[in-house]
Amino acid sequence: MTDSRDCDISQIVDNIYIGGEKAVHRTDQLKQNNVTHILTINNVPLHRSYTDTYKYKFVYGFDLEFTDLLSHFEECFEFIDDALDNRGGVLVHCMMGCSRSATIVIAYLMNKKKLSYSEALELVKSMRPMVSPNDGFVSQLLLFEEMDCTIDRTHEKFRQYRLKKLATNLQGTTAEERSKLQSSYFDTTEEIKKNDAVFKCRKCRHALFRQSGIMKHTVGDGEVAFDWRGKVSSEKVEKSPDEAERVCDLSYFIEPVRWMAGSIQDLEGKLACPKCSCKIGSYIWYGERCPCGAWVAPAFHIQTAKVDMCKPRIIPNR
Ligand SMILES: [Zn+2]
Ligand SMILES: [Zn+2]
Repeated sequence: MTDSRDCDISQIVDNIYIGGEKAVHRTDQLKQNNVTHILTINNVPLHRSYTDTYKYKFVYGFDLEFTDLLSHFEECFEFIDDALDNRGGVLVHCMMGCSRSATIVIAYLMNKKKLSYSEALELVKSMRPMVSPNDGFVSQLLLFEEMDCTIDRTHEKFRQYRLKKLATNLQGTTAEERSKLQSSYFDTTEEIKKNDAVFKCRKCRHALFRQSGIMKHTVGDGEVAFDWRGKVSSEKVEKSPDEAERVCDLSYFIEPVRWMAGSIQDLEGKLACPKCSCKIGSYIWYGERCPCGAWVAPAFHIQTAKVDMCKPRIIPNR
């Protein structure tokens, strides 16, 4: 068994270990602790000699604030469960065993043990004091906590998070890469089948988007709309509830809708009704200022005069 003085591999709970890059070379330790699974979160996977010896999973990602680990939580949990279900041990490692690997293990403990972020962080730090997820990962873990420590694809903030990640990933890509990224986004978007209002084209009555697809933003105080960072929400705690978040009603900024796929490959452009081709708005992936003053990014802006809101018909209970 190792202890925290040994910086290479730390047992966090039974059969779950965190380590840095060097940990994988400690084959004696891995064997001693019955490690059967290795999960790497790094920019390069391990050499084949490891991936052939252990059950192996690789998640691509640098230790940077904008790296998206949240979208990989579920597949990582499955991999860890596979080790534990087969009475094996799992080593989760990155370069230093401080930020990326720790984020995955903290999330796993939040999910399985129903711990808050700070409780899970405490637990992991008590076994490996150097653990310190970067600010971007902390925000992702706080959002995870807000979703009751599961991935809720219909959660408003998660949808905003994904859209924002997509917008970031589109920067500096070719048209072909953009179209690939966008179609994988649409393929994994959960449709929200709420009984909500539908917005129709004023000219041809074609249904364009749902009310739940409107991305709310706070009336302009210059802050980035759709911001999911913990830092911002902790600042807001000090304001009284009614002044804290006044939702802007000047414009419709919406989530991109499936019918837009194929027509939003450029970094900015116009949005037209897919049926009558009437211009209904515009999009700018890197963002736009709403008339209220708030900066909205990415911006899929629908002109209020081009659409009509139609309330759903109430179907009586039988
Ligand atoms: Zn139309
Ligand atoms: Zn606004």
